[in-house]
Amino acid sequence: MPEECLFCKIFAREVPAKEVFRDEEIVAFEDIRPVAPVHVLVIPKEHIPSVHELTPAHGVMLARMIQVANGIADERKIDRDGYRLVFNKGPQAGQTVYHLHVHLLGGRAMAWPPG
Ligand code: AMP
Ligand code: ZN
Repeated sequence: MPEECLFCKIFAREVPAKEVFRDEEIVAFEDIRPVAPVHVLVIPKEHIPSVHELTPAHGVMLARMIQVANGIADERKIDRDGYRLVFNKGPQAGQTVYHLHVHLLGGRAMAWPPG
């Protein structure tokens, strides 16, 4: 685990977070600066800098991340109205933490195209 990685530290519970899901492979927690009524981040244990480094070998893990996000959407009752899953890659997309994460965003209408 890279020593400076914030999300590795959250996975290792070295940095506190408002966790909403945890198993051996995946943790989900509330975003510290929410931009929607529901804003949860889902991360894998494995340190992968971004979606750009994913390979077919990550397929099951990636599907599980999305399944966890879907389950949280169901719990928060935003599945009917809809929600958005976002992976930011690189500075122009606004990526600030270089450990793979998917944003679960919902609870309000969202514009398209995104800003
Ligand atoms: P991104 O900009 O796609 O890399 O997303 C990183 C997200 O992590 C941002 O939405 C931040 O608000 C969020 N974030 C940064 N530090 C923390 C933290 N300590 N706990 C929870 N969320 C965080
Ligand atoms: Zn990491």
